[in-house]
Amino acid sequence: MSNPDIIVIGAGISGLTYAWKAARAGRKVLILERRQRIGGCIYSYRFDDGYWYELGAHTVYNSYSELLQIAEETGLADRLVQRGPARVHFGLLKNGSIDWLTPPKILLRLNWLETILHAPFGFLRSKRNRSLEQHYSGFLGPRNFRRILSPFFAAVPSQCADGFPAEGPGSLFKKRERRKEFPRSFGFPGGLQAVCDAIVTNPNIEVRTGVTVSGLSPVPEGFEVRTEQGESIHAPAVAVAATHQVAASILQDSYKDLSDAIRHIETASLESLGTRIHRDKCSLPECAFIVPVDDIFFSAVSRDPFPDPVWRGFAFHFRPGVEYEQKVDRICSLLNVSPSDLDVLAGQNLTLPAPRVHHAAIVADIDRNLENTGIALMGNYFMGLAIEDCIARATSEWQRLNS
Ligand SMILES: Cc1cc2nc3c(=O)[nH]c(=O)nc-3n(C[C@H](O)[C@H](O)[C@H](O)COP(=O)(O)OP(=O)(O)OC[C@H]3O[C@@H](n4cnc5c(N)ncnc54)[C@H](O)[C@@H]3O)c2cc1C
Repeated sequence: MSNPDIIVIGAGISGLTYAWKAARAGRKVLILERRQRIGGCIYSYRFDDGYWYELGAHTVYNSYSELLQIAEETGLADRLVQRGPARVHFGLLKNGSIDWLTPPKILLRLNWLETILHAPFGFLRSKRNRSLEQHYSGFLGPRNFRRILSPFFAAVPSQCADGFPAEGPGSLFKKRERRKEFPRSFGFPGGLQAVCDAIVTNPNIEVRTGVTVSGLSPVPEGFEVRTEQGESIHAPAVAVAATHQVAASILQDSYKDLSDAIRHIETASLESLGTRIHRDKCSLPECAFIVPVDDIFFSAVSRDPFPDPVWRGFAFHFRPGVEYEQKVDRICSLLNVSPSDLDVLAGQNLTLPAPRVHHAAIVADIDRNLENTGIALMGNYFMGLAIEDCIARATSEWQRLNS
């Protein structure tokens, strides 16, 4: 594309949302993406025979109204697929055995004496300026938190979430209005990546993959974006939607204070490995996910909520630094299969923000430094990691600079 109106850096859901808003407003958008594929943390791994499973993000809800709006605008809303019965069946893995649970059953695993002793005080305390650990240990007791809640919380952002803020920006759980005309949780044919694919069909959007942005500077007619491949691309407007560490590095030369503000956000890494197994080979009960207590992985997410007659798909989200062979062994031991039963192993390593109690103050500082730069800045390090949080930030950045 020659002479784009806007350059978007990063083709995760944040950058794609911004591109979608801009393209629908008639702007020509050029998206530059470091990887060979779009989607970022959204990665529906697809096989030639049409089978897919989610190697990254996996669950979206009818409370994700901004996502649903894009689904409606792209025509995907008519093809929503409801998640099946396995969605409410999950396992807590401890000392080699799996305790199969459902949402109400999990309450029975709490030590009620501990809960009764703590709850009256916990009820009275606000979540403000408190971590998940401080809040829920105060409410249910520290042992209940460590044994039950901490592993489940860690499974959500694929990292220890004990230090996450209990409310506000960066928190895991937010009250959102549900759109009850849609199923409570759902997917799309071909996986969540269908949303990303649909966005880039807009004729005003061009995506260039395999292009790594290395720097960004103001120039009289707008911005200059430099790439590791040695290109210099100019446009009147720019949206930075890369991961937080990369955003800080891209901005450091020309926007040092902004870059420094972003660097206050801590980072967590994870290594995902996924596979599919012939249904006859896998005796594991159908489930949405398995969460371990003290293991080398944070969670194993299954595709069972979208059952397939032939295959079952699993993505394991490992702690960083685990050897490949050890990962394969762990997958096989948990699923009780042999390595030859695993049909194609696919992996991706990611970094994620690790919000802490003071996250709201960091976001406010970033936004202060962002003012008057003309840059749109978005990602999962503002409101939160959830897809809906990313879409909401990208939407509000579009409105801030274009209303
Ligand atoms: C394993 C896992 C499971 C999850 N499950 C859920 C879930 O079930 N539900 C939910 O709501 N959320 C979930 N999330 C969170 C959510 O998926 C992410 O927070 C969100 O998709 C992030 O989107 P993003 O666009 O902000 O960032 P990213 O998806 O990280 O996108 C950033 C993009 O920028 C690109 N980039 C980086 N550097 C450069 C560069 N120099 N030049 C050009 N491009 C660059 C990257 O390659 C990437 O494509 C999950 C996340 C993970 C990792």
